[in-house]
Amino acid sequence: MKAKKRFGQNFLKNDNIIKKIISANDIKNNVVIEIGPGMGALTKHLVDAKAFFAFEIDTSLKPHLNEIILNKPNAKIIYKDILEIDLNNFLKENNISECILIANIPYYITGPILKLIIDTQIIKEATLMMQKEVGDRILSTGGKTYGSLSVLLGYRYDIFKVTNVKNTSFYPVPKVDSVVLKFIRNDKYINTIKDEEKFIKFVKSSFLQKRKTLVNNLVSSYKISKEKVIENLKEIEADFNIMKRAENVSIERFITFSNGWKYD
Ligand code: SAM
Repeated sequence: MKAKKRFGQNFLKNDNIIKKIISANDIKNNVVIEIGPGMGALTKHLVDAKAFFAFEIDTSLKPHLNEIILNKPNAKIIYKDILEIDLNNFLKENNISECILIANIPYYITGPILKLIIDTQIIKEATLMMQKEVGDRILSTGGKTYGSLSVLLGYRYDIFKVTNVKNTSFYPVPKVDSVVLKFIRNDKYINTIKDEEKFIKFVKSSFLQKRKTLVNNLVSSYKISKEKVIENLKEIEADFNIMKRAENVSIERFITFSNGWKYD
């Protein structure tokens, strides 16, 4: 089967990596959702889940995938673009209150899938393959690689590296190396954040332009004067350093700042 570049097809061919991804999850006792089963490298290990649903955009893979789900009454493959699916609705319609997501996703949809796991409460765990650089940013706790992704994923999930993946583990070989991260939802900050929407907006606004200070980014995002921004931040943190950048603000401090932030 010829891989289709437009669908970001890089099939996993390294058994060791496949084993690591599978054994990082309790497949049998969970409802499992897979995005992009492809030729089924992971799928064939996932079809024994309590219930299994996969979304695949490429209908030409149907004959191949049909063989994998043959005699697996709990497994279903939906030939649709995951970006056109309202996953929350889909899960509700299928009476699923909790699921785990496993995906070797094409790089071009990494952003939307990360957004999906931020927004979909029903996903209690996700194991995702992604470009190494994106993984580094997500795992970062401060400095150049730290950004809104690190904070917005980090406050909702405990995040672990499952394994690094060399580009030669795929066919065809992509240009870059990858990493597999596992996200485990936790509610440790849920009661400390006063208003989640406000928190998310505050974090995104703080990182608007990475080289700018936190104060200047808030001025541009909220369209208020520098004096008002500094005044509000100093009310929250008396010794607030006005030269501080968002890359030096921990998740806990972001929560404190957004809780005390007066503007919408
Ligand atoms: N899971 C397989 C593996 O590990 O070998 C295939 C991985 S390949 C990187 C990505 C898969 O996602 C391909 O099968 C591709 O057709 C599928 N895909 C790409 N875009 C998609 C989308 N928007 N919705 C659903 N599937 C998609």
